[in-house]
Amino acid sequence: MTDRSKGSVDRGPKDTPLTAARSRAIELGPEEFRRLGKELVDRLADIQAGIRERPVTVHGTPAQLGALLPAPALPERGTDPEALLAALPDLLFDHSLLNGHPQFYGYVTSSATPTGALAELLAASVNANVGGWQLSPIASEIEKQTVDWLRQMLGMPNGSSGVFVSGGNMANMVGFMAGVRAKMPESIRKKGLASLQKKWLVYASPETHTWIQKAADLFGHGTDCVRAIPVDDELRADPVALASMLREDREQGHRPFLLIATAGTVSTGAVDPLDEMATLAKEHDLWFHVDGAYGGFAAMLPEQRDRFRGLERADSVAVDPHKWLYAPIEAGCTIVRDPAILPGTFAYRPPYYHFDEEEAETNFFEYSLQNTRGFRALKVWLGIRQAGRAGYEELLRGDIALARELYDRMQGRPDFEAFTHGLSIATFRYVPEHLDLAGSEREKYLNELNEALLEAVKKAGELFVSNAVLGGAFVLRACIVNFRTTTDDVRAVPDLIAKHGKKLHESRTEWRKRGE
Ligand SMILES: *Cc1c(COP(=O)(O)O)cnc(C)c1O
Repeated sequence: MTDRSKGSVDRGPKDTPLTAARSRAIELGPEEFRRLGKELVDRLADIQAGIRERPVTVHGTPAQLGALLPAPALPERGTDPEALLAALPDLLFDHSLLNGHPQFYGYVTSSATPTGALAELLAASVNANVGGWQLSPIASEIEKQTVDWLRQMLGMPNGSSGVFVSGGNMANMVGFMAGVRAKMPESIRKKGLASLQKKWLVYASPETHTWIQKAADLFGHGTDCVRAIPVDDELRADPVALASMLREDREQGHRPFLLIATAGTVSTGAVDPLDEMATLAKEHDLWFHVDGAYGGFAAMLPEQRDRFRGLERADSVAVDPHKWLYAPIEAGCTIVRDPAILPGTFAYRPPYYHFDEEEAETNFFEYSLQNTRGFRALKVWLGIRQAGRAGYEELLRGDIALARELYDRMQGRPDFEAFTHGLSIATFRYVPEHLDLAGSEREKYLNELNEALLEAVKKAGELFVSNAVLGGAFVLRACIVNFRTTTDDVRAVPDLIAKHGKKLHESRTEWRKRGE
């Protein structure tokens, strides 16, 4: 800068030249990097080798864990990175819920691929900003290819496009926003939703994940705009009921604009009738968004094709590679049929962005809410290349078969009731033999017992399941998105759970008798 500059100039200490040595607070030389990296990978390999012997769950209150961390004051001086890195694997693995354990069946959280961990190291090393093509040429092309491979897994039409985001919530929200842009008047970009005359309505079943409430609230629509589609016995949206809701709402002068289907619900793995819903969306000029965060990838299995028919007609689909493609967290993706819709939704072009207008260069900052973006696609791209479509088909098919095995085992036992099996989710509850209760008393007792049982199972640490509430019944829920789980693992589950159930029931029975 010269004195002629009108901007302010921050002048540093003029006479102290800065040399390469100034980086020593944070730099690792190549030899040190090699050594520390190898030591870390060695330790991680040992931990992986012994993962079966570890408990799935861990104990410790926030205060107890906090006490394991450094003193609360911001560290004044640095510490030798070798010592820091040597201590970290044990700190983390001794105090984490191990979703890479073969007996982990909780939520929709998968075991993570080891190559995914290496890909994260690579992605961080190249440190690509996959917001602008010029900032990340090869990374941008890899992301584009990965999105297209995911599109092929889902069977969506050639020419669709998409973007990586942090997870399913964000992927669904991007789909929601695309629907707003596509269906609502362009003028709301400037004037906001308050300028609209009609009530603009969204349709989703009550089995939809809570992202829909978050989206409706945060984007200013309000949660009242979400209309609940009734569900059938298998907890799938009822298209006949939906059709009459749409007709009635139109007659009232409202404007339905967004239809949401779920392909693999969180509670039971139910897949909404996508084809019928796609037809209704077309008839009523609705944006058709499919939440396939958990189940979407099962569409690639030939034996599931009927169940997923209509997915290819969606305007937008959310999927979560960090679920059923076993990518390390975080990796979500939105795929849209119309490649112009994401830039149409998210692009603003202020003067300080000088990227080449050349069409072939995709600038992903124009595809979602983010500006600077990490290289999330790499671990997913690597996983797809490592396993191939055939490899993933086998893995997904295996998870589904294991959930079926678990459901069948539970059904065959006198001390369990099996509830549902959908995709790779099985739900069931423990029912003590010769239980002398009936009706609502029985239900109440079983709810309390199974709630306590869930806690007891978590505490014991031999396996991890989560829960669902189905028609008022508190049930245990195993969701298998775990390439490490074997048939033997699953066959061990009923006994592992029953022994705690029996103990809890016995102590409760004693207790009741004493109270009498
Ligand atoms: C997991 C899940 C979500 C939320 O995804 P995150 O990756 O946790 O943000 C949304 N919908 C469904 C159906 C899911 O299974």
